Amino acid sequence: MSTEIEVKEVEIAVVGAGLVGSLLAMLLARKGFRVEVFERRPDMRKEKIAAGRSINLNISCRGLKGLERAGVLDDVMPELVPMKGRMMHSRDGELTYQPYGKDDSEYGNSVSRAGLNKILVARAEETGRVNFHFNHRASDVDHEENIVTFIDESTDKAVKVKARRIIGTDGGGSAIRKSMMELNGYQCSTAPLEYGYKELAIPPGPGGSFLIDKEALHIWPRGEFMQIALPNFDGSFTVTLFLPFKGEKSFEKLTDEKSVLEFFNTEFGDSVPLMPDLVETFFENPTGHMETVRCHPWQVGGKALLMGDAAHAIVPFFGQGMNCGFEDVSVFDDCLNQLADKGYGVDELVKSKESKIELIWYKFFERFVQERKANADAIADMALDNFIEMRDKVADPRFLLAKKVEKLLEKRFPGKYVSRYSLVTFTNIPYKMAQDAGVVCEGIIDDLLENLDDAEKVDFARAEKLIDERLAPLLARSPEPVLTSGSN
Ligand SMILES: Cc1cc2nc3c(=O)[nH]c(=O)nc-3n(C[C@H](O)[C@H](O)[C@H](O)COP(=O)(O)OP(=O)(O)OC[C@H]3O[C@@H](n4cnc5c(N)ncnc54)[C@H](O)[C@@H]3O)c2cc1C
Repeated sequence: MSTEIEVKEVEIAVVGAGLVGSLLAMLLARKGFRVEVFERRPDMRKEKIAAGRSINLNISCRGLKGLERAGVLDDVMPELVPMKGRMMHSRDGELTYQPYGKDDSEYGNSVSRAGLNKILVARAEETGRVNFHFNHRASDVDHEENIVTFIDESTDKAVKVKARRIIGTDGGGSAIRKSMMELNGYQCSTAPLEYGYKELAIPPGPGGSFLIDKEALHIWPRGEFMQIALPNFDGSFTVTLFLPFKGEKSFEKLTDEKSVLEFFNTEFGDSVPLMPDLVETFFENPTGHMETVRCHPWQVGGKALLMGDAAHAIVPFFGQGMNCGFEDVSVFDDCLNQLADKGYGVDELVKSKESKIELIWYKFFERFVQERKANADAIADMALDNFIEMRDKVADPRFLLAKKVEKLLEKRFPGKYVSRYSLVTFTNIPYKMAQDAGVVCEGIIDDLLENLDDAEKVDFARAEKLIDERLAPLLARSPEPVLTSGSN
């Protein structure tokens, strides 16, 4: 009896039906492509499974743009819980509020990861052009033949799929990326953070009420570690503790009920009465790890491509990982539109027998990578910077003064002075440009803070001169509008 495994042939295989893979499938279907999506996990619409990392996420401008491109923004909008600013909780329970944007029109949104993922999968499936194959774990790729081997986790049998294009959206631990790493000239670095995270919960109050301010992202900054909480629709909050794995205050020291309660009562005392199941949840929930992945190239000869976390996993402290992945989808759409303008629409890309069609795909993927790589590196750096900011600086009086001055400048000079945070969160200008502008903004604020102890006394005339000289020329080069109006 033959032991050979039948090889199925498909046009486009998307590997990973997480947030980016399912959004990409939706976009491709809208463009007229037929897509086969292979996902390791069972169908989360039918089986109750953990959504994976982080129960809810902060979605902002770039993420919403990706949803709009794929035609699913209207489906997702009713699921969003707006967060207008950060609420800092001191050790003794004192609260300090910092709005996120220059006014109430700029805010972030909390969204359920599982809820969003289910909408994306359902809408993609409804197009009739996307088939999802759940319980299919990619284990290996033959890049010569463009064949992916999947293990069907429900039967434990291997399934081979020959795809003309393979798109790996299988997250930070990507099997598709690992297969590329075996090819010559491939570079990949993985930098794990020495911190872990643990998810906890503040349940809803009576009648589904919110027990703390619902319109804020709550932060308990404590120098070497912190806790944050994002609101959910049902009145609950998902709380995330970020803590070193090792050291005096670390996960390795929280081994029993006594040590957990002592730690939380000392560090985050005001949150303890809000979490009646704190100890049980602490020991039930896994401790997650975080890392930055940088790799190059993201494609193999126009036949395989990485997107989302598979290409550029970042630490979560700017709330941008998914937003960046959704921006990949918008840029992929731009590249497809450019090809269509040159006469290569879906029919030509799929059916053409022209020999140069492979070169067209190669150039298309290359253009996408060129647009994204420097920007993905920039947000990876900024996410690490923001880790330091959220962890250490939000409790530092000079930092708080600088933030106040920054807010005043944003209000006084809208569209002219735009902070790095706003450029990343409330605009679509390239991340690299936001990073460069952030360095310039820091210099301007540093100069204005000299001998200043009250933000209201900032010298606006000097500020305007500095902005005109240093920031305006940089922002004038932006390919996207910088004026930030409307959140999102
Ligand atoms: C604690 C935390 C908080 C975060 N908060 C935010 C936030 O507020 N805002 C934000 O924008 N981002 C946030 N992120 C980042 C965000 O979660 C990721 O950037 C986003 O999930 C990336 O989407 P993705 O589809 O590329 O990968 P994933 O969401 O990881 O999806 C990958 C999919 O591929 C599947 N898969 C994996 N391996 C295989 C395989 N071998 N074969 C087949 N399928 C496979 C997985 O099951 C999964 O469904 C956070 C991350 C963490 C860890």
